[in-house]
Amino acid sequence: MQRIYLDNSATTKIDKKVFRAMEPYLKQDFGNASSLHWFGQNAHEAITKSRQQVADFLGCNFLEVFFIDSATISDNLAIMGVVKQALRQNSGQAQKKPHIITSQIEHPAVLELVEHLEKDGQIEATYLPVNREGVVKIEDVEKAIKENTILVSIMYANNEIGVIQPIAEIAKVIKSFKLRVPSSKVLFHIDAVQGANYLDCNVDKLGVDLLTLSGHKIYGPKGIGVLYKRKGVEIEPIIFGGHQERGLMPGTENTTTIVGLGKAIQQVSSFKFQVSKIEELRNKLIDGILNSISGTSLNGSRENRLPNNANISFSGVEGESILMALDQKGVAVSTGSACASGNLDPSHVLMALGVGVERAHSSIRFTLGKYNTEKEIDYVLKILPGIIEKLRKISPLK
Ligand code: PLP
Repeated sequence: MQRIYLDNSATTKIDKKVFRAMEPYLKQDFGNASSLHWFGQNAHEAITKSRQQVADFLGCNFLEVFFIDSATISDNLAIMGVVKQALRQNSGQAQKKPHIITSQIEHPAVLELVEHLEKDGQIEATYLPVNREGVVKIEDVEKAIKENTILVSIMYANNEIGVIQPIAEIAKVIKSFKLRVPSSKVLFHIDAVQGANYLDCNVDKLGVDLLTLSGHKIYGPKGIGVLYKRKGVEIEPIIFGGHQERGLMPGTENTTTIVGLGKAIQQVSSFKFQVSKIEELRNKLIDGILNSISGTSLNGSRENRLPNNANISFSGVEGESILMALDQKGVAVSTGSACASGNLDPSHVLMALGVGVERAHSSIRFTLGKYNTEKEIDYVLKILPGIIEKLRKISPLK
């Protein structure tokens, strides 16, 4: 059976050039980057090259780039590292709890951590709402920021609905607050995991202090991420046991995946030329579905979203049933939430948009990538109306 992969926000197929770049480090170039002999230095050099490739992409110094075992750990390190640093500086002083601002639609790697720290009594948190389009309002950031705010953590683009946040504008709000309140030490972290393929990630243009990336969303390997940390920003480590990555990610470096991430990020610049092709196919998919199937609606802003994302609700049918039916026909997509997380709660992202429980449960996320073709989109548009019609007939939601 022909298999069509439309779940590129979950993970991407490894690029051939990336795979080729990684191969030697699983074979003859197996040294431990901390060893002083030739084998070790060979691995160390490869990691340095990769660090420079990431730095070129972010427009920063290579010493500001840290390889972290996943984006989940990088998000955790950024947030917990800032909190630990603040708590240490406050220790013994009767100061207010550190305050963190985040949004209601963050990835669980951010949201669940902030909720945990808040429940644990370590911090105070503000979870910014989004408008119906899925965008955080600048006025809400302005209202939320206060003297004890130590961190604002907002994602660049959302993993479920692909909506892009006004990062540079939020950075301006933070900057002007710091000018008004010189004692303020508020830092700005963004999770740029989903944005990296499509958006400008220059850290100075964005005005961020900390930024997270993941290897496997950019046609690179799984189990590797990046934390960008601006020079002069101090964070505490959260894992102990070695000097690697200057103490922020102890443990023997995974040279293979680090090399893969470096190559993948180098490829992103050339991939950006293909973006209009992806956007055209995505538009064809959205328009095709909305025009040929009744009771369908696009979730999140149409304009302000990643060019590869189409998150659509099909009224009267459960997302999981559509996913399974498409899978049987060889098409891989995902639902906003349920199955993946093992619970039946509706997607927190769709709920934050205010679409309601029923629409949240009936959503499907199609995320295109650089390997998708027009023929594949035509095939999906051909089979989907029949699938929805059949499912609607037997749906308990009807
Ligand atoms: N942040 C976002 C926005 C994501 O979409 C993901 C992956 O789904 C992650 C973080 C976690 O990335 P990783 O799989 O590298 O831990």
